[in-house]
Amino acid sequence: MRTDLELRLLALYPEQMNIYADRGNIIFLQRRCEWRGIGFSYAAAGPGEGFDPGEHDLVYIGGGQDRDQVLVAEDMLRSKGAAIDSAIEDGAALLAVCGGYQLLGHSYQLGERSIQGLGVADLETVRGEGERLIGNIAIEADLRPGPDDAEALVLSGFENHGGRTHLGAGATPLGRVVHGHGNNGRDGLEGVRRLNMIGTYMHGPLLPKNAPLADLLIARALERRSGSEVALEPLEDDLERLSHQAALRAAGGG
Ligand code: GLN
Repeated sequence: MRTDLELRLLALYPEQMNIYADRGNIIFLQRRCEWRGIGFSYAAAGPGEGFDPGEHDLVYIGGGQDRDQVLVAEDMLRSKGAAIDSAIEDGAALLAVCGGYQLLGHSYQLGERSIQGLGVADLETVRGEGERLIGNIAIEADLRPGPDDAEALVLSGFENHGGRTHLGAGATPLGRVVHGHGNNGRDGLEGVRRLNMIGTYMHGPLLPKNAPLADLLIARALERRSGSEVALEPLEDDLERLSHQAALRAAGGG
């Protein structure tokens, strides 16, 4: 039991950016903390609300349709942009899914209109002319949940996006597509990562299907708070492994 530890989670725009089991991802993080006796605190920041970057160690922003993104983008930049940037630079973990992921970049081009993003990741998104990129997806992610895990972590999920994301020269992808479309359906890359920030098109529901990713985010967030390395107690995870395998099979792997 690590009762001295607490995961301090901040959800950005939970009312507006939540279309793909995003609440479920947060509940999963909460449960994994509770099962280990780790404290969990939840806070939300919606339209017009700022936050103190020193008070939250895991920031979450979920998916949203183009319409929702237009509504939150400007507000997010104005009311939270500096705090998000400062939290990331200071080592806070951040998970941005789909619509939220797109808003990490410089811009999202929707026809004639360009939405300005946070610019915390070197990427741009353009609304594609062609079909939406939809389906089950599996990627090999260059993430190491523990110091002894050298192998790429296989993540599986579901993607559904019209936007095509292109990483700039300064950006590192989250991983390589094994099955599915990824960032743009062309370059074989998926998501972005920088420091402890992760952006991805995988949702539906990402964390319950990929428990090691949830634990990685929890560990990084707790480390930022405590200033020392955190090794999480393993959990039983039989169901979590089954859900991962089922998602992998649905994507055409496993
Ligand atoms: N609106 C964005 C797109 O379609 C993201 C949608 C989403 O969050 N699934 O590209």
